[in-house]
Amino acid sequence: MKNDHPADEGIQQFVLHKTDCDQRLIDHIAHCPECQRRAKLYVLLRERIEGLEKPVFEFNLTAVVMSQLSLPKYVGVFENVLSYVLVAMAGLWVGLVYYLIRPDLVKLVSALSPMFIYFFVLTAGGVFFFLLATLYADFQQKLKTLTFR
Ligand SMILES: [Zn+2]
Repeated sequence: MKNDHPADEGIQQFVLHKTDCDQRLIDHIAHCPECQRRAKLYVLLRERIEGLEKPVFEFNLTAVVMSQLSLPKYVGVFENVLSYVLVAMAGLWVGLVYYLIRPDLVKLVSALSPMFIYFFVLTAGGVFFFLLATLYADFQQKLKTLTFR
């Protein structure tokens, strides 16, 4: 390794975290004038960067960023009333259909074979669990995106 100098990352690790370095790297730098010169350059660079004045914004950064963010859309009273009317109409429609077919509903259910009911329940359960798994995978993907930003 004497003639094979370490990469810049190795020199930087030696300068910044000497205790985490490989012993061969430490021995090489201790005996290699070229790597000692490179390490001294990184030490100088680090001292210069630490000596720089910290940047300070001359404006309120929080206020500027918050003004750029979109606020949640205001839901007006009319939209709430519209959704209540739609839900009420849907409920009335289901009730009307139930009222009209009620006499035949018992005959319809009793005419269904148990095999058809099992098939229906299994299909509905399969679709439900598929949608649940898709929803969970989508949630995990969004969580991963948020975590790595
Ligand atoms: Zn070297």
